[in-house]
Amino acid sequence: MDNSNKLLNHTIMKKVLITLGVILVVACNGKKEEKAPAEATVVEAKKTEVLLYTLDGGHITVNNLNLFAQGDTYKGASKELSNAFYVVKHPMGTLLWDTGLPEGLVGQDPYTPPGGAFTISRTDSIANQLSQIGMKAVDINFIALSHIHFDHTGAANHFGEATWLVQTPEYEFASSEGIGESGFYDTSAFAQLKKVQQLSGDHDVFGDGTVVIKSMPGHTPGHQVLYLELAETGPVLLSGDMYHFNENRENGIVPQFNHDIPQSEQSIKAFEAFAKETGAVVYIQHEPLDFAKMPKAPNALK
Ligand SMILES: [Zn+2]
Repeated sequence: MDNSNKLLNHTIMKKVLITLGVILVVACNGKKEEKAPAEATVVEAKKTEVLLYTLDGGHITVNNLNLFAQGDTYKGASKELSNAFYVVKHPMGTLLWDTGLPEGLVGQDPYTPPGGAFTISRTDSIANQLSQIGMKAVDINFIALSHIHFDHTGAANHFGEATWLVQTPEYEFASSEGIGESGFYDTSAFAQLKKVQQLSGDHDVFGDGTVVIKSMPGHTPGHQVLYLELAETGPVLLSGDMYHFNENRENGIVPQFNHDIPQSEQSIKAFEAFAKETGAVVYIQHEPLDFAKMPKAPNALK
């Protein structure tokens, strides 16, 4: 072996050693990393914990159920409705969804407004119910109303510190002329909501897809529903007033007092398609059977 060959062999050996070294390092790293993917999988599998608290916004006896359909479907019928509202607790903040009937009803006899279509009552204030889940009004970061009918806005004025997430058509409708003449609206009930974030369509509240407001207009110009992904329960849809009770949903029935009936029919299609696509469990906010299914404060649906 001449010197040049020795040198070549030496160089080859050096390369081999370096290569072996690299392989060893990679192998060692590989061993070290054996644990890392397992840990990463555990982190990924732990879903964001979103809690859904169901609170009691009062009770409605519908004396004239025929209002809740076209034609005479429910002529002569009456029905008891619940009036649920909700607190959604996400690691990044809290969202209040609806607020129930006017709080002035608390401690009063059931009240029948002029026209006699409804008799309404409310037994508990929002502050008292929030205290049962360890919260105060100032702990609410966002407030969203499914829509501005009076049975959803009744305690909204406590939340002037929160950001109001409202569809632009609903916001504009709320300040439109003549709205005060309808018994369905009391704009003074949410006049304190000054921190306004107008929405034009769906809105992912915390940016991770677990709490999403879905625009579903028709019942009012900017009616919306709420989609949630809960860690244990899975996907959930809160109906707003897309439907008022189970038979409404089963038959795809639109109340005659809806703001826009063809638009309501479109939203029903969109709602059902979305519910099917996501496999979401639907909770109808005014349906007493759905209200009864929910854990009561201080417990939450997980
Ligand atoms: Zn309504």
